Amino acid sequence: MSLLEIRDLHISYPNPKGEFFAVDGVDLTIEKGEFVGLAGESGCGKTTLALSIPRLLPRGSHIGAGSIHFNGVDTTALSEEGMRALRWKEISVVFQGALNALNPVHTIGSQIAEPIRIHDESVSKKQAHDRTLELLEAVGIPARRFEDFPHQFSGGMRQRVMIAMALSCMPKLVIADEPITALDVMTQAQILDLLRSLCDRYSLSMLLISHDLSVLAQTCDRVAVMYAGKMAEQGPTSRVFGNHGAKHPYTQRLLSAYPNIKHERKFIDGIPGYPPDLSQEQVGCRFADRCDVALSRCATEVPELIDIGGGQSVACHLASDIRAGVQ
Ligand code: SF4
Repeated sequence: MSLLEIRDLHISYPNPKGEFFAVDGVDLTIEKGEFVGLAGESGCGKTTLALSIPRLLPRGSHIGAGSIHFNGVDTTALSEEGMRALRWKEISVVFQGALNALNPVHTIGSQIAEPIRIHDESVSKKQAHDRTLELLEAVGIPARRFEDFPHQFSGGMRQRVMIAMALSCMPKLVIADEPITALDVMTQAQILDLLRSLCDRYSLSMLLISHDLSVLAQTCDRVAVMYAGKMAEQGPTSRVFGNHGAKHPYTQRLLSAYPNIKHERKFIDGIPGYPPDLSQEQVGCRFADRCDVALSRCATEVPELIDIGGGQSVACHLASDIRAGVQ
């Protein structure tokens, strides 16, 4: 049994034109101890998909169909009380923008210790305090800074505090939503190393969301790429970013939009055009208008996610050729 199993999930938001279909029939699994990266450009539905797991979607959003099984329990069928028992204790989140996520009038130590006691009443104040000191040291913050306030830390240090908070109850799954955005490159590398080493040390699973494929390539066991509310491609990082390579034209274009310092210098190609308007009914492949290898059937037939072997799956009409070894 997988730790997380999302099947055929549909999520929509109300908008002035009717409904905006942010996630449309998405499947995703995460195994115990696995580090999965979720990529795609802004508005593709990756944050909506991730926030549906701890059920932290904005008011008005609607899970229309599908299921989310966490550790064998269908969370879409749980009461709000049942879900509260899972949040933080079993599934925690490292939010984007630590300054906004931390309470400015409480010390960082008290903010890390609070969920420990809320989720386990048998834990004494002293035990929660000791556990917080341990967590601070684990994320590279000296324990003597327990009584400091968020404004006394740099951006990278605040993100470390957020990671300590997310680990405070030793959850089974940590969701990190763009945890390194707005940090300098050196700090980004340190935070990524820290996330990976803590997950390995405590045997946690992680869903890491980023629009930056290079971040996922160096950190994750498996990568999933979304486009316009649908899953475009999934597979082991070693295959998608390795010699075997990405097989979906969108993933290929995303990868070619990154400079490679080992190759000769050349101009970077962006992807022409824009993603489709998800408040309108979609026909055919959503990438068809921007795809330079589109077939005539792409305009009318929706491509299914097809297993092409080696744990890699691709939602593209060319995938049957790939599976047959034509490409
Ligand atoms: Fe391109 Fe067609 Fe594949 Fe879509 S299904 S990515 S349009 S080739």
